[in-house]
Amino acid sequence: MTQTRTNLIGLTREELTDAMASIGEKAFRAKQIWHWLYHQGVKNISDMTSLSKSLHAKMEEHFYIGRLEVARHLVSVDGSQKWLFRLEDGNEIESVFIPDEGRGALCISSQVGCSLNCDFCNTGTQRIVRNLTPAEIVGQLMAARDSLNEWPSGVDGRLLTNIVMMGMGEPLMNFDNVKKALTIIKDGEGTAISRRRITLSTAGVVPLIARCGDEIEVDLAVSLHAARDELRDILVPINKKYPLDQLLKACAAYPGARNARRITMEYVMIKDVNDSPEDARLLAKLMRQYKIPAKFNLIPFNPWPGTNYETSSNNAVHKFSRILNDLGFSAPIRQPRGRDIMAACGQLKSDSENQKLKALAAKRKAEHDAAEPLSA
Ligand code: SAH
Repeated sequence: MTQTRTNLIGLTREELTDAMASIGEKAFRAKQIWHWLYHQGVKNISDMTSLSKSLHAKMEEHFYIGRLEVARHLVSVDGSQKWLFRLEDGNEIESVFIPDEGRGALCISSQVGCSLNCDFCNTGTQRIVRNLTPAEIVGQLMAARDSLNEWPSGVDGRLLTNIVMMGMGEPLMNFDNVKKALTIIKDGEGTAISRRRITLSTAGVVPLIARCGDEIEVDLAVSLHAARDELRDILVPINKKYPLDQLLKACAAYPGARNARRITMEYVMIKDVNDSPEDARLLAKLMRQYKIPAKFNLIPFNPWPGTNYETSSNNAVHKFSRILNDLGFSAPIRQPRGRDIMAACGQLKSDSENQKLKALAAKRKAEHDAAEPLSA
């Protein structure tokens, strides 16, 4: 069915007010509807019981409440959950919920695929298909709340308390839509997730980092992964465009960053690639040199079908963490969550793509096995 009506989800307050004005309704209606959509989480226009039946009918001619279609919902043995969503155009994206003691973070995607091709990232092997719309970004939160049964917003003891823009895609490459979506998500009369509970992770799109702080006003995480340009050029190729010097200067100047609100430096630990004690010392030195209020987050590399990288040994990771600690930096080791459902960092990718990769790996193995007797 071609959709000619407008999705109410994903409109900013101003856009919703304009949309209501376009059918002759006053601004206070938009305020009521906002509350129904984002505080109560209603799924149907007719459930907005403070509006008249005739207004329901009029609204239904022009608008709808678009929820994302859940194609698959997986729950890990460790309690984390993953949703695979099928978008209206058939593309697929994933979100992951990671519950913890007293809090829980929803990891949200910003693009279908990714344009950055980081060498160790599963999503990076998938080409960029398109940016997500504000509706599709906000929709991930709506769907998680539906699934966790956490409407209305604002009650105490919720499981889903935090948002991390750390799913598929590079959020700063989809700046406008991400900004709109987070503006909606932060709104105190709606889903009301405060900016202090939102972290945006970037691989280092330097020209947009300051704007992220000024306009989106959320905490920043940076996918650092290497302390030297030669290595970072390989692991995070956007480094060739915006090398460490530029990235670290932008971090030092990040609006709102200070000791109480540090920038998270994400560091994926890859065996024999970036996990030496010298690397740890160099990292600390860089943070000092650039005067960055930083904390580290060490992420043991999560393997995926087709990768050549391996996870650092437990020993190497702990030693790395200790060196950073001794030099004055917090450097917790992120426990891999949801590996059994391929929901861990860098493992996200539409399932159909993974199936293709697995088939390719099986084919290569078959060819290899068949060739072996000849080479022996
Ligand atoms: N594009 C943004 C958002 C993705 S966040 C960014 O790069 O920051 C996802 C985080 O997981 C990033 O820090 C990414 O570098 C990391 N990651 C990617 N692949 C990984 C893997 N296989 N194992 C562990 N972490 C990985």
